Formats: sequence, C-alpha cells, structure tokens
Amino acid sequence: MTVSATLRRGCGLRPLRFSTVHNSRADSLRVGHRRHHRVVFADLLDLTLPRLCVHCRRPGPLLCAECCPGTPEWVERRGGPVATARTYAGGVRAAVVHFKERRRLDLGPTLGALLGEAARLVLEVAGGPLTLVAVPSPPSVARTRGGQHVERLARHAERYLSRNDVATLSRALVSVGRRSDAVGLDAAQRVINVSGTLRASRPAARARPVVIVDDVATTGATLAEAERALTGAGWTVAGCAVIAATRRIPQEF
Ligand SMILES: [Zn+2]
Repeated sequence: MTVSATLRRGCGLRPLRFSTVHNSRADSLRVGHRRHHRVVFADLLDLTLPRLCVHCRRPGPLLCAECCPGTPEWVERRGGPVATARTYAGGVRAAVVHFKERRRLDLGPTLGALLGEAARLVLEVAGGPLTLVAVPSPPSVARTRGGQHVERLARHAERYLSRNDVATLSRALVSVGRRSDAVGLDAAQRVINVSGTLRASRPAARARPVVIVDDVATTGATLAEAERALTGAGWTVAGCAVIAATRRIPQEF
C-alpha cells in the first residue's frame, strides 16, 4: 500500500476530532501540548544559545560573579535591621528588574539563592526552623507581572536553604487598599503610601516565627508595614530579609 493510500485509509486508529470536541479535557490537552512544545523549545534554545550574564552579557552564569559583588550583611532601615544579600546596584539590580518586569523567570533560582543567603543571616541569629512570608504586590501589579513574584522567589529560597530550616507560607499577608508605585517618593511619603495596605490573612496558628521576605528594601517602609500587620495578628517576626538594599535612602528614615 502506498503512503498516500495509507493516509487516505487511515492507520486504523480513531482520529482525535479536537475540532468537534468542545470539552474541558480537549482544552486541557491542547493547553498541555502547547506548554510541552514551549518547554521543548526552551530546552532547545538552552542547547543552542549560550547562557549570558543578564548585565555584562558575557557567556556563563545568568548573573556572573563580577556583576554580583559583595556578601550578605545587615543594614539599618525603618523598623529595624534588615538582612540583605547584596546592594541594589549593577548586575543585581538588572537581574531583579528583568525577573519582575520582563518575566525572566529563569533568573528565579539565582535570585532565590540570594534571598536564601539573606534569610540565613536571620536564621543564624534567631535559630530555626523559620517560616518565610513574602510581601505581596497589589493584585493589579501582580496581574501585570504574571503572579506574585516575591512569593515565587521565596519558593526558590526555600529550595536553596534546607527545607528543615525554612518553609514558605503562602498568602499569610494580603494586599488591601491602594499602594502606588513608590518610585520618586520621599521617606515620609513612602510611609503614608504603604500605611494600612497589608493585612495578615490568618491569625498566628503556629509557634514557628516568621521571616518577612521582599525583593528590594529602600526605606524599609513596606517591611515595617508587613511587620505591623503580622505582629498585630499575633505572629512572631524573627526578622526581615531581602535580595538587595539600596545604597542611598530617600531622605532620612
Ligand atoms: Zn556579568
């Protein structure tokens, strides 16, 4: 039998009539296939394109050592000391911006490891185990970024650290009310901007203290608001940890 005849007669299997089957299973199959193709395509790109540093564009890690200088340290911010992995500048700043504004999700493990390094400072002081609680973005911001990016980073930090030491608690904080973009605001305006915008979603049900985690600390107003919300609901806050803290703080805090 010729190839064309085989095609005309079919191969004996009942054809999948996706075009006439409008049910959720068919839809999920289609979505699954698309996702699979995207994953395969991304894997092929990984094999064919060199990985470049997000900042200096040299082949190698997504954030090379030269573009990520420094070691974790404590910095003083509104509400108290904050553990930070690096200074918010250069390659670290570029990686954070690409991750949250340009959906470079492949940077998640790298940034999550940095967040884990900062959380480890809190662990050294407070002891473990601790629970990571991510500062949520307002829903409208999360929608444009494709989800809660800090919670995503907290999951990567959890994988970087021992699961015996930390566990991420989803949605322990929820965003309420309006919070504008803080860029350009001075210290006092930032406090007003975040005041009353976070709420604990549940009362403290566990004895395990929490570490509040965020991507960047500027004045520390958002972290202080998160701490206020959690302690008000009975949670014990062991400390705050961020990927990066700004070198300069808008005015005095
Ligand atoms: Zn680099």
